[in-house]
Amino acid sequence: MVRNLALFGATGSIGQNTLKILEMYRHQFRLVAFSFHRNLEQARAIARKFRPRWIVSTGTQEIREIEGIPVLHGKEGLEEIASRPDVDIVVVATAGTIGVFPTLVALEQGKRVALANKETLVAFGPVVKPKMSLGELIPVDSEHSALFQLLQGRREEVAEVYLTASGGPFRETPLEVLRTVTPAQALRHPTWRMGKKITIDSATLMNKGLEVIEAHFLFDLSPDQIRVVIHPQSIVHALVYLKDSSALAHLGYPDMRIPIQYALTYPDRWPTEIRPLNLPELGRLTFEAPDLEKFQLLALAYRALEEGDSAPCVLNAANEEAVYAFLEEKIGFLEIPEVVESVLEARQREGIMGNGLEALWAADRWAREKAQEIIQRLAA
Ligand code: NDP
Ligand code: MG
Repeated sequence: MVRNLALFGATGSIGQNTLKILEMYRHQFRLVAFSFHRNLEQARAIARKFRPRWIVSTGTQEIREIEGIPVLHGKEGLEEIASRPDVDIVVVATAGTIGVFPTLVALEQGKRVALANKETLVAFGPVVKPKMSLGELIPVDSEHSALFQLLQGRREEVAEVYLTASGGPFRETPLEVLRTVTPAQALRHPTWRMGKKITIDSATLMNKGLEVIEAHFLFDLSPDQIRVVIHPQSIVHALVYLKDSSALAHLGYPDMRIPIQYALTYPDRWPTEIRPLNLPELGRLTFEAPDLEKFQLLALAYRALEEGDSAPCVLNAANEEAVYAFLEEKIGFLEIPEVVESVLEARQREGIMGNGLEALWAADRWAREKAQEIIQRLAA
């Protein structure tokens, strides 16, 4: 049986890895639609190679067709594709919060969503969670894919879970030096190759903070059941601690093709092009506690999760604005947490509350404006 797939964010890092799997399993999966944002060149290349039925442009509105294939636009375009009866699996690998819209539509239609986009769950967890049982939400993020596999049939036995973090390029950099690091230095991730935004989030440890929130909504775990451990080799992706003090771990080379493919083939497991783990070659796997003084954003993410309501949504939006300001060299590395903390505090002061889609969408917009005000002040 051939499964029809829509791939949103096809031109990105996860998107490109997904296309490699579709090439390998071209008789099992058919790419019927994809989205891109700005990279028209790449979109043309994908269109030529895979000949889908539709393309969605979330960036420019002008394009009507690419390589003779009709182009839809924006959030409505993503929603229309996600609702089509001839789309079986929707891979949501766009950057940013737009991912929530096709995710909700696909779940409401009882479809499988392979979800890479973490903003969807972090910002809109309270809206997405009640819809999860309507379809199938399979996580692509490597730590959550690991937990999804480790937790199967085991919910009653679980005490707590651990997400691993590489620690990023600044694990051993003293706090004083972090003040002056450049975007180029922050983009040098030691183990994973990913898009720019998530690579900066890995350097600040916010990526792990977002993942703690993601795990809370995906697996119904309380904040104090979700722990983080630094593991520089990125071989162990997650651990589940059981009630008898034994633990299960999920291991693999840091290659996103493994969790992406599992999200497509679940509950089956198919071969990949990735070699099996060579333990003697790996030698040593090490672990250490995260430094919450140095990486304040991880602590802020836990705080936002405890506060609940719109706090995770506001945290995510403020962080996104601050990360792009850092990449544009408007603010320094240590000013990213400063922006996020100020916006979280303003949320409480100004009473930005509400858990529905519209309230959260408004909180997202509000947090971005607030973050921009603070960024302008810091940049002046
Ligand atoms: P990239 O930056 O490499 O790719 C982002 C994709 O989204 C591109 O296709 C881009 O289009 C598109 N895009 C950019 N801005 C927008 C927008 N405003 N609206 C709609 N689409 C947009 O990111 P990644 O592939 O690294 O990450 C994608 C998502 O997956 C993120 O949410 C990330 O947190 C998550 N993730 C990524 C992992 C990884 O290993 N990369 C691991 C776990 C999660 P274009 O290039 O055409 O402009
Ligand atoms: Mg991850």
